[in-house]
Amino acid sequence: MSKIKLLSPRLANQIAAGEVVERPASVIKEVLENSLDAGSTRLDVDIENGGIKLMRVRDNGGGIEKDDLPLALSRHATSKIYQLDDLEAVATLGFRGEALASISSVSRLTVTSNTGEESNGWCATAEGRDMQAEVAPAAHPQGTTVEVRDLFFNTPARRKFLRTEKTEFNRIEDNIKKLALSRFDVSFNLRHNGRVIHSWRAAHSQVEQERRVAQVCGPAFMENAVHIDIERGDLKLWGWVALPTFSRSQADLQHFYVNGRAIKDRLVTHAVRQAYQDVLFHGRHPAFVLYLELNPATVDVNVHPTKHEVRFRDSRMVHDFLFRSLHHALAEVRPKDQLQSAS
Ligand code: ADP
Ligand code: MG
Repeated sequence: MSKIKLLSPRLANQIAAGEVVERPASVIKEVLENSLDAGSTRLDVDIENGGIKLMRVRDNGGGIEKDDLPLALSRHATSKIYQLDDLEAVATLGFRGEALASISSVSRLTVTSNTGEESNGWCATAEGRDMQAEVAPAAHPQGTTVEVRDLFFNTPARRKFLRTEKTEFNRIEDNIKKLALSRFDVSFNLRHNGRVIHSWRAAHSQVEQERRVAQVCGPAFMENAVHIDIERGDLKLWGWVALPTFSRSQADLQHFYVNGRAIKDRLVTHAVRQAYQDVLFHGRHPAFVLYLELNPATVDVNVHPTKHEVRFRDSRMVHDFLFRSLHHALAEVRPKDQLQSAS
């Protein structure tokens, strides 16, 4: 008898969920990224019990059409890329078409949406089963609401790994902060157990942006940071770097974005570290909020399912640009005596 069998779609999704849905915070990241990809300018996030009981995200983006709703919940279904070439220069945060399918396989998921073309909206529910989402009419203004209840209710082994509600909520908050720093033009509202935790209005001018950075990273960071904005050829680096005097004992205030996507990258870390090398004491960590912009065709984001890592086509050039830009910015603010002793 044959021993090899195809996995059921549900089991395949649950296995895939292992890669992208680690905890409530990873659900929030995926769902909010979808809202941003849909062109939303306002995001309302409601969390109950650290996200373990409920996560609800409401956006005012383009919405999902009735016929697309069941597809949105299926694996490998996406509206963001259609062919391999598109992957070469992907401009959206998502493109794998896996998040909603994965989430729906390990929770009770409801998606309600209205594209604004009809007066009413539509609602699809999938509950830890094989994506045969049922679609029914529902009242909803233009945009989408994604509701995730009882995460890991059907995968007890994963549920066991969840930490306290407070810890899970803190991670959700961290992910929302990361996104709030990537999209100043979007307003973010976060509530936990009915209490307003954050309410950040859209920021357009540099002054408003700096206010948001202060809200997200703490006022002390902003008071000790310098604004930079450097362009060389196709590369642009802007943002805020803290003075060496505002160093940290942990690498906990380091936000780096590549074309709007938060990343953690060895090459980037190395370049920043080198730039701070002679102005920071050993064991101290720099604080920064930095945005690198470059031609999307010269960076590969399809390295890892969570997309935290990227691969630069010309990594030497990027490293060099980061190092020089930061080194120069820091040299300008360093007191003269420090400069002389370092040279
Ligand atoms: P991906 O983001 O990789 O395409 P997802 O599983 O996260 O895959 O989402 C599947 C599809 O559902 C998206 O391509 C998009 O068309 C649609 N979608 C999901 N969330 C939203 C939303 N908030 N607004 C509009 N469309 C959405
Ligand atoms: Mg997505």
